Amino acid sequence: MSIVVVGSVALDTVETPFGKRENALGGAATYFSTAASLYTQVQLVGVVGDDFPAEHVDFLASRGVDLKGLQRRPGQTFRWAGRYDYDNINNAQTLDTQLGLFASFDPQLPEDYRSADCVFLANIDPVLQLKVLEQVRQPKLKVLDSMNFWITSNKARLSEVISKVDVLLLNEGEALQYGETFSLVSAARKLLELGPKVVLAKKGEYGAALFADATYFFAPAYPLEKVVDPTGAGDTFAAGFLGYLAREGDYSLAAMKRAVIHGSTVASFTIEDYSIDRLRSLTMVDIERRVEHFKHFTDVQGEAVFETLRLQPAPSA
Ligand code: AMP
Repeated sequence: MSIVVVGSVALDTVETPFGKRENALGGAATYFSTAASLYTQVQLVGVVGDDFPAEHVDFLASRGVDLKGLQRRPGQTFRWAGRYDYDNINNAQTLDTQLGLFASFDPQLPEDYRSADCVFLANIDPVLQLKVLEQVRQPKLKVLDSMNFWITSNKARLSEVISKVDVLLLNEGEALQYGETFSLVSAARKLLELGPKVVLAKKGEYGAALFADATYFFAPAYPLEKVVDPTGAGDTFAAGFLGYLAREGDYSLAAMKRAVIHGSTVASFTIEDYSIDRLRSLTMVDIERRVEHFKHFTDVQGEAVFETLRLQPAPSA
């Protein structure tokens, strides 16, 4: 099973109350590919400039990510700078965005990408997301991510692309903004009416909620002692979710509920370190162990929550 991902490959500067990382490897497609490649074959579509360190390309290649669709052109790589504060750890404050080559990005899928089983449209201009959907043949699952910027600047095109996908992923605040409501249930209903079978609202440290016709499923986030940098949590949530479904070849609602647990698990590892650093050494054994913990701390019987927390490795920072 293969997943095509289209999105940013970036150099990020991130500030948290604990420190700052400059020009670190980032971008939605990078986070997604790094994590999803633990589950299945990933084919990446994006663009980088001649300022993009070769070691980052080598790293993605070492994970088995197919990079035929990564355009390398003269010019500047997409750069993003953001900050997280104690009072809003779930939402980055964007300090600077430099589109560079991303401003003229025209996603082109190599021939063998077009028959991929799954497509992940990471957060980019909905006009480009529509272009990608025109190029794929008959994927079994199309998943879309977006952000507040597109809700404000191009709601019509965003609505069009939402109507063409199976699963829509949004932060809770973005879903509320789209639905112009304070009720997540009401927002999810409006979004489902556009056509997707599933709306998945990410609630940061409070977990994720899945809405489908007559179905609601909620999963908490993994209780972590070590939180360093939330960047990429959303994209690696998508990677665990979609990676699990693609690996199992099962796109039923029941499988999607299990996939939400994988999404929450993978995201929990991402935020334990800056950039993709925690993901470099992450294994499927680590993921499966944490997935198993979820069963304990959502079980009302006994004292399993404390057992779960004891099983975590001792925080080193
Ligand atoms: P998230 O998973 O939501 O934390 O996504 C974080 C990544 O999104 C960062 O590594 C950024 O490089 C990337 N990013 C931030 N803003 C944008 C944007 N406007 N378009 C595409 N990618 C972005």
